[in-house]
Amino acid sequence: MALLQVAEAQQLILLHSHCLPAETVPISSALLGRVLAEDIASDIDSPPFDKSMVDGYAVRSSDIDGITELSIVEEILAGTVSNHSIQPGEAASIMTGAAIPHGADAVVMHEVTTFDEQRKRVQIPGPVKPQQNIMARASEMKQGERVLTTGTLLRPQELGLLATVGRTSIVAYRTPRVAILSTGDEIIEPGQPLHSCQIRNSNASLLMALVTRAKAVPQYLGIAHDTLESLRPLIAAGLKSDVLLITGGVSAGKVDLVPDVLAETGVKPIFHKVALKPGKPLFFGTLKNTLVFGLPGNPVSGLVGFELFVRPALRKLMGRSETFISPTMKAKCRNEFHHKSDRPTYYPVRLHLAAEGWEALPVNWKGSGDLRSICASDGFAVLPPGEVRYSSGDFMDVLLPELDHWS
Ligand code: AMP
Ligand code: MG
Repeated sequence: MALLQVAEAQQLILLHSHCLPAETVPISSALLGRVLAEDIASDIDSPPFDKSMVDGYAVRSSDIDGITELSIVEEILAGTVSNHSIQPGEAASIMTGAAIPHGADAVVMHEVTTFDEQRKRVQIPGPVKPQQNIMARASEMKQGERVLTTGTLLRPQELGLLATVGRTSIVAYRTPRVAILSTGDEIIEPGQPLHSCQIRNSNASLLMALVTRAKAVPQYLGIAHDTLESLRPLIAAGLKSDVLLITGGVSAGKVDLVPDVLAETGVKPIFHKVALKPGKPLFFGTLKNTLVFGLPGNPVSGLVGFELFVRPALRKLMGRSETFISPTMKAKCRNEFHHKSDRPTYYPVRLHLAAEGWEALPVNWKGSGDLRSICASDGFAVLPPGEVRYSSGDFMDVLLPELDHWS
């Protein structure tokens, strides 16, 4: 049977991922990266009054003909109310953010005027256009108007807008809880003495950080041995979360018992193996609403599996209404590059922003166990199966990366 393609596997995962229930949450920066579960209407006209956008003089535009002298009748500070109506020949000194007085229909910037302190008069150069330097009442939004919709990702600008419309709390989708279980008799935690034949547990740290960066909440379960007795209780604990990530024990080895234990506990297998490199023996199944991912043990397989399959699921669980699958972008290959594989390959590249756009430099990568080279890369080029040859300047598709060093 032909291996499942990456896009097919992603669609199956999205089919089984459902957004989590909503909850009321106070507004704070902790909401960054979460998703609105309600439409938001403005409780005010904004701005609530015709507002001056500069420090200067509120005038009647029809008064100004060439250089025109006006008498200053009052000073209006932001936050104060003017009771005077500007008459022909009059102007009011006005500050940024203050309400335009009656009678005036334009503001002239302080910098272009000449002020006569003794006579309390100001010279205004013409012409002056009606509405100049005025932000009209309700031009940003009208009272009752919908300004944000369910499914919107909350970024700093949305949090600012929620404050504008007076919200102190909102309804947001719940954050996914993601249990993380490492497996393998050879795996030990950093900080423990390392005997020969042992491998330090890099996957747990890697996945905890990936989950945290994806704005979900990781819960670490520890390391299971490659025995039914050790795996059973830890997998049972993990199935209480929204998502269970297991690393190792999903391939065809003698002690790769994870799929058996999952079957025993009632997890319905959806697929096992995807046409990709690294990370082919990837398992995905469900138990009620819990999503279970069995990621191959090699760290880079886990990283690629997370980005391709776990990330889209988390986005859907978190209530995003679109953009589940990370897109690719075009980058120019910086030098000659040759690769051969029977499967689509996600190959680490270092990205450079050159004058003409993005360039990708494939790193010297030793395969799925080589996490060190990944630290010298920023993303993954998507190489088609078969033999591929890139000359310098040829375009490569690169998975849109999270460019941490610019964040
Ligand atoms: P497995 O998928 O269990 O066959 O493991 C594949 C490879 O990944 C083996 O070389 C393991 O030693 C390694 N590996 C498995 N789990 C981890 C882990 N938590 N951290 C680092 N390497 C691991
Ligand atoms: Mg193993």
